[in-house]
Amino acid sequence: MSRRTLIAGNWKMNTRADSAVALAREVAKAVGEEPAVDVALCPPAVYLSAVADAVAGTPVGVGAQNLYAAQDGAYTGEVNAAMLKDIGCHYVILGHSERRAILGETDAMISEKLQAALAGNLVPIVCVGETLEDREAGNTEKVVESQLRGSLAGLDEVRAAGIVIAYEPVWAIGTGKTASKEQAEEVHAFIRKLLGEMFTPEVADQIRIQYGGSVKPNNAKELLSQPNIDGALVGGASLKAEDFAGIIHPA
Ligand code: PEP
Repeated sequence: MSRRTLIAGNWKMNTRADSAVALAREVAKAVGEEPAVDVALCPPAVYLSAVADAVAGTPVGVGAQNLYAAQDGAYTGEVNAAMLKDIGCHYVILGHSERRAILGETDAMISEKLQAALAGNLVPIVCVGETLEDREAGNTEKVVESQLRGSLAGLDEVRAAGIVIAYEPVWAIGTGKTASKEQAEEVHAFIRKLLGEMFTPEVADQIRIQYGGSVKPNNAKELLSQPNIDGALVGGASLKAEDFAGIIHPA
């Protein structure tokens, strides 16, 4: 089964209206008309429309960094899947470790968001990953398994095939410390095996598993060449078109 690589840029809470549009245009230019990989930009919610307009007609997709799992109603400050779809989003990042740690998102909340994303025809990018403490205690697989089983609870096989998982070891996010290709591949292979048990091996074979954690142009190629690494979720290096382009087209 060949899975198409997905490189997604998570801009987090960065950029302003002008710089977001300029960055999106630069990325679209660098990507070209027929890239060999799928590319997505995930700007802050307030700039999603502007970025979607800036990349309209190009192969660059747009994703949100979060959603609220409810239909329209009295949820002050929140944005739902239908609204994201309405303004041109294709993807939505769910359960990023920053939201888990800072905003107290639980696996149960993420599984509700996942159902809402799928019902709204968005492709969810579900983030999982261990802390340094978990890893040093030998609990990486246990933590990743519990996050995956919790976040994907209630998901059926048919829909499972279309989701994206991002394995993001928390100790590698924004720290400049990347998992080695062996460390990353080991966890990706474990995730694929687990997905095979949770769904079927055929479904697991179709699910794209991205790696995230200090991916840069100089380490992208070796990470992306691993058999179970199907793309990258990129934070810091997605804020410079040149660096992001260097990950999309690694030398
Ligand atoms: C992220 O936040 O998803 C991420 C991987 O960040 P960075 O690339 O900066 O480590």
